[in-house]
Amino acid sequence: MSDPTVQPVPTSVVEQVDAADVTLSNPRRAVLSLGSNLGNRLDTLQGAVDALEDTPGLRVTAVSPVYETEPWGVEPGSQPTYFNAVIAVKTTLPPGSLLERGQAIEEAYDRVRDERWGPRTIDVDIVAYADVVSDDPALTLPHPRAHERAFVLAPWHDIDPEAQLPGHGAVAGLLAAIGREGVDPRPDLELRLPE
Ligand code: ADP
Ligand code: MG
Repeated sequence: MSDPTVQPVPTSVVEQVDAADVTLSNPRRAVLSLGSNLGNRLDTLQGAVDALEDTPGLRVTAVSPVYETEPWGVEPGSQPTYFNAVIAVKTTLPPGSLLERGQAIEEAYDRVRDERWGPRTIDVDIVAYADVVSDDPALTLPHPRAHERAFVLAPWHDIDPEAQLPGHGAVAGLLAAIGREGVDPRPDLELRLPE
């Protein structure tokens, strides 16, 4: 028989308990995409990797090779190409806190640029967080365009050939379907995994 003194738990409380569980005891895997097309692009990517590693409750577990990517939807040659990479992390931060940390890193780099509305120095996107699926516009998971971006799928496949994109299937298959056009490996460049 059910205990009449036990009240049903409102959904919002259940969510808070889940968030606390993630925060306190249960590291999750997440995949982040980094892109830079202004300034010293390689130094900026490395700076973002280092800043993420310096985040309490976060460890960078893998850093991909660097790719050079044509910017999308602009006149060819009118903007520098992007350098892109993907990193895997293990973190006790809940998804919203991980997004805030990425945005703080973006802001730290944007402050040093001269031109107010130019291309961004660094873009930090959460590609996937564990198997979380969310259509919240402030944090859509997985990232709504990850499945169609070779500059995300190619470096992700390099560090995890078995990777699965929640809701879309194997990264290997998605990459085979869209191809690697416009996304060139730069084996002469290398990002370091922080010690
Ligand atoms: P983009 O990455 O598409 O070039 P921005 O970096 O300017 O564009 O991001 C715009 C907004 O996208 C951010 O304010 C953020 O709240 C939202 N956003 C939604 N889902 C994600 C995600 N998975 N990772 C990063 N930002 C996201
Ligand atoms: Mg972004």
